[in-house]
Amino acid sequence: MKYNIEKINQIGNLLAEVVEEALEMKGQEEVLIGEIEMVLRESLLKTGNSALQCFLENADRKIEAEIECACGGRLKYQRRREATIWSVFDKVSYKRAYYAGCTCGKGCAPVDQRYGIEPGKVTSGLARLVSLCGIKEAFDGSRKSLKEFLLFEVSENTVRAETQKMGELQRQADLELIKETQNESSLHTCPVGKREQSQEPAPEVLYGSIDAATPALAGGAREVRIEPRNEKEKAVEDREKWRDLKIGCWYEGEMVPQSRQSTRQKDKAQRAEVVLRAKNQKYFCDIEVAEQFGKLFWATGCAAGADRARILVFICDGAIWIWNLIAHYYPNSIQIVDWYHAADRLLRIAKEAFANPDERQAWRERVTEDLWQGRVELVIEACQALSMKSDLARQSLAYYGDNIERMRYAHFRAAGYFIGSGIIESGCKQIVTQRLKISGAQWNVDGAILTAKARAAWLSNDWEKLVKTRSLFPLAA
Ligand SMILES: [Zn+2]
Repeated sequence: MKYNIEKINQIGNLLAEVVEEALEMKGQEEVLIGEIEMVLRESLLKTGNSALQCFLENADRKIEAEIECACGGRLKYQRRREATIWSVFDKVSYKRAYYAGCTCGKGCAPVDQRYGIEPGKVTSGLARLVSLCGIKEAFDGSRKSLKEFLLFEVSENTVRAETQKMGELQRQADLELIKETQNESSLHTCPVGKREQSQEPAPEVLYGSIDAATPALAGGAREVRIEPRNEKEKAVEDREKWRDLKIGCWYEGEMVPQSRQSTRQKDKAQRAEVVLRAKNQKYFCDIEVAEQFGKLFWATGCAAGADRARILVFICDGAIWIWNLIAHYYPNSIQIVDWYHAADRLLRIAKEAFANPDERQAWRERVTEDLWQGRVELVIEACQALSMKSDLARQSLAYYGDNIERMRYAHFRAAGYFIGSGIIESGCKQIVTQRLKISGAQWNVDGAILTAKARAAWLSNDWEKLVKTRSLFPLAA
């Protein structure tokens, strides 16, 4: 945006005088830069407050005797009526023309309509900041952070309400997407309208991962405490742990240039592994049964270009419901069991089966190498041989046996695919561990879902989209 620099400089000069006077009045001998900045920020806040009031009051200086009502009837001018909004410049009160007297009984302030203002409510400018804090820390902590940034108080309830409103907008967007895609049963008929609109080139290789953040998986000691909404949910809870937050991610991979590789990545490069990093991550999440979550999985896949990608690769940690969803919606995809889960299991088997550290080490190194080379049959044989000594080895026969084709790691590496599901684990960590499970957090189901969805939108770089929808909120409602 372009500004009139001359006027800005005039305001700057005036503000400098205001700050100087304010500091003089304090009568302090020494003033440091931090204090000057603080006084200046407070003055700017008040300036912004005054400017916003002026702007809104100047916006309808021209008053009509009558205007048309939304119902088609006529509204008569009443008077300039005061309204208050909560903006980034604190509480702003302004007087604007108010019309009433239509037979429908509704009144109207054209200025509010024009700018999407809801009197008595938080503006979208303040909402974007308040909700951003709300997805990053506990609502109470957000209140304190916001005071630092904004220089005025926002209540904990406002933070909660605005954060969840963002989540609600994301939920609406999810439902909309599901509606658009639910009648389509194959990739070839993925919503055509969407495809034509999209200017994005088709991803060559698109990756997908799904996980459920159970407290144990996310590695936290504290459980996500969620109360059931009703008796029906309590009954479901007995059958299925549906209150886990299910999270999915669509992403692409790109080569990391040598100059930007971390030490760990350089190690990888030396072992002739492809060094990939994820880009364009799109996270989606819900607390839902697998079948319902599948619809979101399908819908977001259409939006991410799963229909246009030449190769579709799924990397997951191997829960049955996840492979079932993938088989149902994307039967022709490449499926990979997360390397780290598969290798870690060998470590645990070795620990259980061998008391002698040398034997343990030797077994683990040999079998891990077999797994690395995709010789899963040899891994199964090795587990079979230990099945009398180790329960885990015996249980793992099915794990490796059911996933033979999903563990051809040499082949996957040669093709240049990711073999680890780090992206989805990072998503679980960022959404669940770092937000839903932080100290002081207690949720009902909806609160947890909405906060998680808002945070997923932020992680997916979809925040701006939500903010735009939010700014249309009073008009859309
Ligand atoms: Zn009317």
